[in-house]
Parts: sequence; structure tokens; C-alpha cells
Amino acid sequence: MTPHRKKTGTRLTGRIVFPGNPSYHAARMEFNRRFSKFPKVIVFCRRTQDVINAVKWAREQGVRLRVRSGRHSYEGFSAVNGGIIIDVSAMNKVKVDRKNRVAIVQAGNPLARVYKKLWNKRVTLPAGTAPDVGVAGLTLGGGIGLLSRKYGLTCDNLKQVKMVVASGRYGAKTIVANRRKHSDLLWASRGGGGGNFGVAIAYTFRVRPISTVSIYRVTWKWGDLEKVLPVWQRWAPSVTNRLTSTIEVAAKKVGTIESTGQLLGGAEELRRLIRPLLRAGTPVKVLVKTVPFIKATQFFAETDLNLEPKFKISGAYGFQPLPREGVRMIRDFLSKAPNRHSTVWSQSLGGAGSAVSRVSPTATAYPHRKAETIYELSARWRNNGEQRRNIQWVKRFRRALSPFVKGDYVNFPDLLIKNWPKAYYGVNFGRLKQVKRKYDPHNVFRFAQSIPVGKQSRHSYSQPDRRKDCRQPRFGG
Ligand SMILES: Cc1cc2nc3c(=O)[nH]c(=O)nc-3n(C[C@H](O)[C@H](O)[C@H](O)COP(=O)(O)OP(=O)(O)OC[C@H]3O[C@@H](n4cnc5c(N)ncnc54)[C@H](O)[C@@H]3O)c2cc1C
Repeated sequence: MTPHRKKTGTRLTGRIVFPGNPSYHAARMEFNRRFSKFPKVIVFCRRTQDVINAVKWAREQGVRLRVRSGRHSYEGFSAVNGGIIIDVSAMNKVKVDRKNRVAIVQAGNPLARVYKKLWNKRVTLPAGTAPDVGVAGLTLGGGIGLLSRKYGLTCDNLKQVKMVVASGRYGAKTIVANRRKHSDLLWASRGGGGGNFGVAIAYTFRVRPISTVSIYRVTWKWGDLEKVLPVWQRWAPSVTNRLTSTIEVAAKKVGTIESTGQLLGGAEELRRLIRPLLRAGTPVKVLVKTVPFIKATQFFAETDLNLEPKFKISGAYGFQPLPREGVRMIRDFLSKAPNRHSTVWSQSLGGAGSAVSRVSPTATAYPHRKAETIYELSARWRNNGEQRRNIQWVKRFRRALSPFVKGDYVNFPDLLIKNWPKAYYGVNFGRLKQVKRKYDPHNVFRFAQSIPVGKQSRHSYSQPDRRKDCRQPRFGG
């Protein structure tokens, strides 16, 4: 494809896809098909210089830009109408230095590829479960998964980030942020959220030796909800930090409750550790086995999401187990779920000796260190006619649970949260704004919920983009 050129300006380089190109449709789509945006151009960058050129081009042309890696943003933040998408997915090298326990992971890697490349050297990184999620967005927002309680969030293992940032009035340059240089940008890249400061090109992570792990899955009938959920909520954060676990309650129409988890240890120990769970209600299926770590990543990989391609999800943190009233709320909402694909999911994060909780809430931009669990309330559907009902349900559900939970994870963003700076960043929002002013004073990297440069009121944060490219039904209140 011929590079696009303005008379005297910077040329776009890399694989460039314009509307009309046969691959444009596939190139513009987000994982969440609720969003269908039409960018002016998509650049698949192969080298750092392609990224620099794309940022310069966008600035010279006055075109809005978005940064994209794995396309898994819940609210379509990596796409834009009429702007340029700077996609780094072709930059996917992984270099492992097993001796020094570090790996350099380029930002275009999906998680499955990271796990595989690290596994080849028998090391790993605590990260998420879905194979296609991009390591780029996941790390910048935090990164939770089934090694979190032992080894922390993905961002806790981030030692260095190479990033293309805006420079001067129209330029762009590469900087490296680590403990010694640009340590404020490293701090902000550990939980401050994707798309805010620049384009991450490569991460240097601390990695851990790994061989086998033990995994479990226990299934109950839905009627056991009020027995099982309270037990899981007390047990999951109190058990050894070598065990991280999840629980998912399906819609009543589906009628199942499932808990899964991973132990750095043997199957016999795991069987013993899950005994309190097995005594709750009447488990109908129990699986416990020891597997090579790479098999465990495949076990936890979610595969059924493609069935219902549109979704609305909201997140929240639990700082203590839900009271009986909160559990009843979950039962009531899932009894009246808009369809079979509505669920409540939760994962243990904190508690006894957890590596997540050991870090101070201000030591990185990720503030939710004292939470015991994280929740996702989700609804999935196929046809546009179902959208309003599903979004309404998530919104009402979040409101109903709000007396018992707090905040939200920036990687589970929700455009309906009005005071999102507080929900995502808590005490760290002020410092994040300072970092933003220092590295992106012209607000080149912006979207509906990006960290603002100025001192807008919280209601004006999302105005510029919401009108154009964040279309979704809005409800009163
Ligand atoms: C099916 C599914 C499963 C998930 N499972 C987990 C999980 O187990 N654990 C967990 O913690 N989270 C999980 N998430 C949430 C996930 O962490 C976020 O959606 C994350 O933002 C995705 O990153 P991405 O690169 O795939 O997405 P993108 O949509 O490409 O990007 C997300 C955000 O990051 C920005 N961004 C992307 N690339 C870059 C870059 N190179 N430099 C700077 N900014 C960039 C984008 O502009 C956007 O704002 C899951 C999401 C989905 C849809």
C-alpha cells in the first residue's frame, strides 16, 4: 500500500488500511461488537518508527488517535470514528532472560502467546485468563489472574516500559521509563490505564520459574447460591496465597454455580484446601488435578464469549463478604436476568498474605490494594433490539449492589459510572493528572474516560468524545 503523505508532512508507515480496503472491516472491529466505529485509517505498526510516524501524522493533520493492541476494551476505547487507530499487534516479539528472571515482551502480544513463549523457558508472569486479551492494555490497567495472590498484579511485575509519547507541538519521541528514569511514568503505567500517556511499545517484566500447578473446578446447582457464595467469600481470601480462585453464578435459567482455582502445589493439598467449599451445599461435579502450567492457562481460557458478541460489563471491589442482603440481591437479579448469558463473576485478590494487598495503595497507580475480591456483572446478547434491556439490567444491578461494594477496576471500564476518576483511581487520581500534564500536556491521548490535563469538573471529563464515538443508550439518573 502506498504510504499516505501530506505535502510537507510526516508519512504514515507500516501496514496502512483505509476505508475501501478489503481488510478494512476486519481491521476496524473491536472484540465487543456493541461498538462499530469507522476510523479514517488504521495503521498496523511493525517498528517503533511506524508508531512515531503515526503519532506525528495524527498531530500534524489534527486527526484524533487511538492506541490498540488486543482490542478487548469493554467500552470500545481502542476504536474511533473518523480518526486514526495505531495498532501495535504486529509488534509481538518476546525475549526471555531466564538467568536474570526477566522478559522483554513487545506490546502487541496477546496473553496466550506470552504464556507460550515464557513456558518454553519454564517461566511465567502473573496475568489474565483470556487468551486474546492484549498484554498491553491488561498491564497498564493492573492485570489480575490466577497467580495474583502469590505473585501480584501483572503491573507489579513491570520493571520498565518503552513508550512513544507526544513531544513539542507536533512531534513524538520514544522514552524508557523505569525506577531511575521517568519513574513517575512507570508509576502511572502500573494501573493508570491504557491509552492515557502514550503508546507502549515494550515491557520488561520480572518472571517466575514455573512447572506444574493444581487446578480445581466445583459445580453446584443454582439453588445452593445462598449456601455457597458466603462460604466462598470467606474462604477464598483466607486460604494460602498460593491459591487464587473464582466463582461464577450463572443466570437462573442456566442454573449453575461454578468455582475454579489454581494452586502452586499438589493435587492432594488442593483437595484438602477446598474442603470448606465442598461442605457448602451439594456439589454436583468436582474436578481436581495437577497439570503442566501451560495446560492450566488453557483450562482457564474463556472460549464461549464468541457466542454472544455484544456485551456490557461493570466491575466492583469487595472489601468484606457480602451481607445476606447482598447475596439476596444477586439471587434476585440473576432470577430476572435479561437472558441466559448474564452472570456474576468474582475472583479472590487480597486477604491472607496476598501479594496484591502487600503493596501500598499509592505505591503504584492501582489503588484497590485492600480489596478482598473483585466482581464482574455482565450481560451478553446478539441482536441490537436486546441492547437497551441488557444495559439497563447491568446498570440497575450495579446500583443495587453499591451499598456493599466499592470502586471499579479501570480494565473493567463502565461509561455509566459518573464519578469514574474516583472509582478507578481513588487517592491516585491527583498524581495521575500531574503525570498526564508532564507527558501529554496537549492531551493527544484522549478518549471518553482518559485522564484529563486540566481541571475540568468530573461531569465534563468525557464530553468531547461521548458525542461522537461513544454511542450507547444513556439513561437518566
Ligand atoms: C474476554 C475478556 C477477558 C478478560 N480477562 C481479564 C483477566 O483475566 N484479567 C484482567 O485483568 N483483565 C481481563 N480483561 C480486561 C482486560 O484487561 C482489558 O479489557 C484490557 O484493557 C484489554 O487490553 P487490550 O490490549 O486487549 O485491549 P485494547 O482494546 O486494545 O486496549 C485497551 C485500552 O488500552 C489502550 N492500549 C492498548 N494498547 C496500548 C498500548 N500499546 N499503549 C498504550 N495504551 C494501549 C487502549 O487505547 C485502550 O484504552 C478481560 C477482558 C475481556 C474482554
